[in-house]
Amino acid sequence: MDKYLLWFLFSLLAAVMLPADFVLAETPAKRLFGKERLPAKLQPQVHGFYTKGCLSGAVAIPIDGPNWQAMRLSRNRRWGHPDLIRIIEELSYKGKSDGWYGLMVGDISQPRGGPMLTGHRSHQVGLDADIWFNPMPEKRLSFKEREEISAVSVLKKGSVYVDDSKWTRSHTMLLYHAASFPEVERVLVHPGVKKKLCDTVKGNRKWLNKIRPTWGHHYHFHVRIGCPKGSPGCKRQKSTGTNTGCNDGSLDWWFNVEFGPKKKPAKPSAKKTKPRKQLRLTDLPQSCQLVLSAEAENLDEATFKIQEAAFTAPNIKLPKFSAANAFTSRPIEASAGRLQDNALIPVPTKRPSP
Ligand SMILES: [Zn+2]
Repeated sequence: MDKYLLWFLFSLLAAVMLPADFVLAETPAKRLFGKERLPAKLQPQVHGFYTKGCLSGAVAIPIDGPNWQAMRLSRNRRWGHPDLIRIIEELSYKGKSDGWYGLMVGDISQPRGGPMLTGHRSHQVGLDADIWFNPMPEKRLSFKEREEISAVSVLKKGSVYVDDSKWTRSHTMLLYHAASFPEVERVLVHPGVKKKLCDTVKGNRKWLNKIRPTWGHHYHFHVRIGCPKGSPGCKRQKSTGTNTGCNDGSLDWWFNVEFGPKKKPAKPSAKKTKPRKQLRLTDLPQSCQLVLSAEAENLDEATFKIQEAAFTAPNIKLPKFSAANAFTSRPIEASAGRLQDNALIPVPTKRPSP
């Protein structure tokens, strides 16, 4: 009985404290997660879904690896589930074996996952990573360069088709390797990229199933792994089945309907867009409140230990993280190209799911 009495008193106390909790519950979750600088010192675990969740025990991909450089460091989004970071490391070696000089690693997740103050609806649970479509340069970039250099679109200027002067066998092989990890469930790319693969890949085409067309994603591709072991609170995404997605009409939809001639080009200025529903802390799995309040792991401890122990990274000094200045880095696309692409790729009313 004592236990119940205690529970009753505890509930009473909680009720008295409601106003503070209420304020927390009403704060957009992106503000709470967006100001976290370090991960929760808990077991690596995914809580919730790609677009509604959080992450504990995240690890950071080192700023530099033998075959990668992390970009847009001020955003502090190089955090992921250890399984994902390991896959990025492995992908960097596999890519290199097929002529891809190294990965430019874009956004992964915030230290404790969760919704972000800018960009991305997914990337909330440390299972999504953006990789640029240009190989890393030979030189090690400075902090400033990593903030400012633009990614390069693989599309022809003003077109929804891949520019053959930019596309190489290494691009294809990098996507092949990404899709070939059993853990990887989807690789999101622009429909033009998917079409390029559908038109050119010979022999084994099974992996094309995981290459999913979506908006944007011609400056970078997006690797998404499935729910890792040891994360019972991770919500699985719908299966993509086994079809290559090349001949079932889903890819045609993009070119005939979405990019089709009949479609009036959207005028971004005149378009009324419904603001996205702001996620509150109470919209996320309850465990995310524990993730948010948990003790922080220190950066050294939480940085992924790379295979190649002999690799010495250049010394890049990071400015002190503050949520206020974390989002001043440029989008990965050149701004002129971005406006043009927005005009080309309007938000449709319905489409096949990626
Ligand atoms: Zn992404």
